[in-house]
Amino acid sequence: MATPKPQELVNTIKSRPPATEWMDTPPDFRPGTFCYSGKEKFVEYLGFPFPREWRAQEADWKLPPNWKEIILEGIRDRLLKFRSFHVFMDICVRCGACADKCHFYIGSGDPKNMPVLRAELMRSIYRREFTKAGKIFGKMAGARELTPEVIKEWYQYFYQCTECRRCSVFCPYGIDTAEITMMGRELMHLIGVNINWILEPVANCFRVGNHLGITPHAFKGSIEGLVDDVESATGIRVNPSFNRKGAEILFVTPSADAFAAPAIFTLMGYMLLFHQIGLDYTFSAYNSEGGNFGLFTSNQMMKSLNAKMYAESKRLGVKWILGGECGHMWRVVHQYMDTMNGPANHLEVPRSPVTGTVFEHAKSTKMVHICEFTADLIHNNKLKLDPSRNDKYKATFHDSCNTARGMGMMEEPRYIINKVMNPANFHEMPENTIREQTYCCGSGSGLNTDELMEMRMRGGFPRANALQSVVNKHGVNLMATICAIDKATLSSVVEYWNPGVEIGGVHELLGNALILDGEPERTQNLRGEPLKEE
Ligand code: SF4
Ligand code: SF4
Repeated sequence: MATPKPQELVNTIKSRPPATEWMDTPPDFRPGTFCYSGKEKFVEYLGFPFPREWRAQEADWKLPPNWKEIILEGIRDRLLKFRSFHVFMDICVRCGACADKCHFYIGSGDPKNMPVLRAELMRSIYRREFTKAGKIFGKMAGARELTPEVIKEWYQYFYQCTECRRCSVFCPYGIDTAEITMMGRELMHLIGVNINWILEPVANCFRVGNHLGITPHAFKGSIEGLVDDVESATGIRVNPSFNRKGAEILFVTPSADAFAAPAIFTLMGYMLLFHQIGLDYTFSAYNSEGGNFGLFTSNQMMKSLNAKMYAESKRLGVKWILGGECGHMWRVVHQYMDTMNGPANHLEVPRSPVTGTVFEHAKSTKMVHICEFTADLIHNNKLKLDPSRNDKYKATFHDSCNTARGMGMMEEPRYIINKVMNPANFHEMPENTIREQTYCCGSGSGLNTDELMEMRMRGGFPRANALQSVVNKHGVNLMATICAIDKATLSSVVEYWNPGVEIGGVHELLGNALILDGEPERTQNLRGEPLKEE
């Protein structure tokens, strides 16, 4: 079924709850609103249990005979292991402060997309099985039986949550519904219920080192193609190296940067920057993925995929790791990497070879974000910039959920943008839609799949609304972001909701503005378009 047109979609945002109570309202697997199930071959390849072919629209999901015991045992395990999960199951006072903060609720009007009710899908089972009140009073205490219908509901709504954590900003108790979603997804994996859009990239990553399934020589070949594009746009030939032992820095970025527009323009910007400052860096064609779809499956999977960064840095003998523009890669690095796979004693505390700045905050992970690195270069006057080369753009900045809320990176990208373009051409979206209150792109956490397009456009609606306000007020025609998934997903969102707006990277804008030693006069930007509008 085709995605409804924007006005039709707005008209179908529900303003009233369903006639039946939420516990009696079954999930509706309407095309465009759910993800396809994980293919048997990928479940098997990854060693997840119960590989089989099954479909969400069919009545029988072919669950294993003891599925109920497995789920309850899984909940018990996680209550013991994750204190936060236990606390989040107990402390919600149902104040409703989070209710209208989720982009999926705003775009659908479906009460089960209110964070509080999303969490209740799990809490109701917790109460029934793990609390006295739930055992005695049942439904009166908000408890219910675990049935196959509950699993179907989890499947639909834990894959209509992008784990963005916007709701947690507004919760007086700091309840993080994203963590409940993560637990829900983990539990479903235990009985072979998962989605293909996550499993296939994870399997690819194990097989060849990146989500896209690109072999090492194709990864290298693609970047070499971008070297040609850099030369056509700037007249300068850059010379990246691959798998080079003894390089000072291992540069890791999401694989989309090497293959998909508009992310490729960001990678062109990185290469120009590294060339200009003479950085001693290498790509790895084996560790060719910064992203980590393991984060969207299970803690163990996240840990396994993340481990290759340190393993490759050890093999190559580099001093530290520099990471590109990505959202969930940085959530994993910032929040989990050191405890999961550290300590990285084979690496040194990162120090900029150009400015001498020691990145003290990266003492534990030994990994620095490209925006921190570049902002430091600009702050120390190490780059010559011509902001007028970005004059065709009136820009705004979309804070990616994972970098803004997950690691607190909000100033550095803005600092760079305001140095590489005329600050008068930069316009912030409304205050309650940026920084820690930023709205999700609507397709993060492994939901960037075509079969979910209607929900993705619904989820992208609040961001698009905020964007439209600066389009109307200031004529904004570019939304910059520092996440590869955002670059892909927001391209679809703006095509649908805000035609005429482009999506770009911060280092793409930097690459446009950077004055390179010995360069001929620049007439094109990194997209090969004239620098100035005719
Ligand atoms: S804001 Fe927090 S306490 Fe209030 S309903 Fe939402 S999750 Fe529960
Ligand atoms: S984490 Fe994001 S997507 Fe999930 S319930 Fe909260 S606001 Fe909605």
